[in-house]
Amino acid sequence: MTPYLSADNAAIAESGISSQSRPNRSTSQRISWNRREFLRTAVSAALVTPALHSSSRRTSAPSSKRKTVVVTFGGGARDQETFAPEGQENIPHLIRELIPQATLFTQVVNRGILGHYVATASLATGVYETINNFASLPPQSPTVFEYYRRDLKRPPSDTWVVAPSNGFNRIGESSHRSYGPGLGARVILPKQLLKAATSGGGDYQHLLNDNYEAPFFAPQLKNNEFELHQLETVLKLSIHDFKSHAQVLSSPDELSLYVVLQLMRQVAPSLLWVTMHDIDIAHSGAYSLYIDGIQRTDRLCSDLWKAIQSEPEYAGKTTLFILPDFGRDGDEDAGGNGFQHHRTGDVFSRTTWMLVAGAGIREGIVVDRAVESTDLAPTLGSMMGFSPSFAQGAPINELL
Ligand SMILES: [Zn+2]
Repeated sequence: MTPYLSADNAAIAESGISSQSRPNRSTSQRISWNRREFLRTAVSAALVTPALHSSSRRTSAPSSKRKTVVVTFGGGARDQETFAPEGQENIPHLIRELIPQATLFTQVVNRGILGHYVATASLATGVYETINNFASLPPQSPTVFEYYRRDLKRPPSDTWVVAPSNGFNRIGESSHRSYGPGLGARVILPKQLLKAATSGGGDYQHLLNDNYEAPFFAPQLKNNEFELHQLETVLKLSIHDFKSHAQVLSSPDELSLYVVLQLMRQVAPSLLWVTMHDIDIAHSGAYSLYIDGIQRTDRLCSDLWKAIQSEPEYAGKTTLFILPDFGRDGDEDAGGNGFQHHRTGDVFSRTTWMLVAGAGIREGIVVDRAVESTDLAPTLGSMMGFSPSFAQGAPINELL
């Protein structure tokens, strides 16, 4: 039996993106094809539970009850260190646990600016944002958080962003005149919580690395009272407990996941957005730290998936999306330095993937056709019952 079924979407593949606007189409398709072939070997050997071969669709909760968790996968990793045979040992949880239960898109093309804040904002708006990646600015187009809250009349507590860097503090709501202030997501910055809880002291520096790409960009947010309020009244954590737990954590993303799990238990938002960033330590040039980051992100995704399945507010009615904001440079381009950066704009840094699992999602499906980063927001809209009317992308039919 073939473990994977290819979704039959020839018509969609031809209509989704015009061939004129498809850069390096053949290379992008080859990357996609290779990913499928890599997985065919890995997953058929790894699967032990026959039920995971099923292509059946999971039960979908009514949209009013449905919850969605979006995870950006750590600042992008290359196939050599992930899906390719030599990289698969770095992502055992994705390969053995998550992918067999998921619909996997092997060709997610990002045509926007390859900076983490602006690319993540583009995922959230469905528009390739052009804001300065290193300025404290909100997205220009409405975010999924604003559409969701306005269309479904949801309170602010129902949508949260957990973000790794102070530079993401404006991502919750746009500057769009029809949306914006008062309609966005609550944003929680775990490092700011830790700084506030420790008054900047203590041995927590390894958890406070803020931006690997531009180390001098670390806006100071001075509002400890607000952070301490989040800690105590939202997360229901005492300063003491938070500090002592943080002492056993090894990275900023572990700190983020700790906050995410606490948020799920205490607030149970219906639209939860988690941005991981450990992998981006690759900018330091240390290959071993980059690999550590991939392995840790793989494990944290599995931990989050397990929490989704075990927390009563989430079990059975939650759809999980995992996708990198973009990739990293290939080894071939003379203008780059391989894994270290994402500055060449080559096809490897633009052709990424997306894994979707949980409520309403078919299992064991691989979709090769190209989708775009901007298709995420319209897809969330179709799933959750809101209309992202300014988004450029299109809903992804294989998920609906
Ligand atoms: Zn980066």
